Amino acid sequence: MNVTNHSGRRAAALLEDARHRLAAAVGATPREVVFTSGGTEADNLALRGAAALGAAAGKRHLIASAIEHHAVLRTLEALAEEGFSVTLLPPGADGVLPAEAVAGALREDTALVSVMLANNELGTLQPVARLAALCRARGALLHTDAVQAVGQVPVSFAGLGADMLSLSAHKFGGPRGAGALLCREGLRLPPMLRGGGQENGRRAGTEHLEGAVGMAAALKAACGQMEENAARVGALRRRLCGRLLSRRGVEIRLLGHPQQRLPGIAAFLLPGMSGEEMLLRLDLRGICVSAGAACATGEPGPSHVLEALGIPARQAQNGLRVSFGAGNTVEEADAIAEAILGVLEGAFWR
Ligand code: PLP
Repeated sequence: MNVTNHSGRRAAALLEDARHRLAAAVGATPREVVFTSGGTEADNLALRGAAALGAAAGKRHLIASAIEHHAVLRTLEALAEEGFSVTLLPPGADGVLPAEAVAGALREDTALVSVMLANNELGTLQPVARLAALCRARGALLHTDAVQAVGQVPVSFAGLGADMLSLSAHKFGGPRGAGALLCREGLRLPPMLRGGGQENGRRAGTEHLEGAVGMAAALKAACGQMEENAARVGALRRRLCGRLLSRRGVEIRLLGHPQQRLPGIAAFLLPGMSGEEMLLRLDLRGICVSAGAACATGEPGPSHVLEALGIPARQAQNGLRVSFGAGNTVEEADAIAEAILGVLEGAFWR
């Protein structure tokens, strides 16, 4: 029986309104939206669900890029321990995974390919629409972690042709602890959590209504300002790169594909200094950057993304990521460039 009082009906109506708005902003249908606690849960649900569907059909092979977020990589590690065979494909030196590499790795028993839309450390965009077409032709599911892309660049679930897509509200100005998995209509994804029949039986538990409403509103606002913001932060990124790369005697290397990228993220390899040391020195000057991935907090050691680019472990400690937002100014971009160069030149002279 499913009879609710008026306040329950009001909550349900608000949730459905948020579902419609979110779906409209990402080119999905409302039934394709599964609200989750964020990107990590969406990734886990996609991988575990696809693995269970695959296993039921005798398919126990999973493919992902080697530069996925730990939410994907750690889930794959767990699935490998449970008997799945996992292939991790390294990207090219420019951070882009060639579609041919995926084509070559697909097998009769491949259940799922998981490749992120935009990498969180490099900002590089992956050819997900091509990969989705390839997977469809070969009978495998395609999941994309679009946590970094949604709200920054136009994303259409239908246009990509993916089977599943993860997104997270705090990446586009929404509340922390809210996200969603888009799951293609007709794909009967088994739930990870057992309990009630919420989210069409795909995610049990009382929905985080405030999170869903805030997420939908934030995404609408982000999409409304997307073009303007992209132009703005893109100009700041190019200005920073220009300054850093043109300074004589300082060998900073720009990482990731020069064009196929998110507008606001720049990734560098510093000469002779770890990203962490630079982060601390810039922090003292009131500048917030990150060494490797901001959301990999607590992950010791060199960046797995930089290592996957073929950068030796010692040098892979030297990654620095600068991420511009809508509120940043040209003066700030120049100040960051001067601060980074100042720290490096100071260190050379010590
Ligand atoms: N995937 C990517 C690419 C990310 O950058 C992050 C970090 O925020 C996540 C997944 C995890 O998302 P959440 O923090 O919402 O769990």
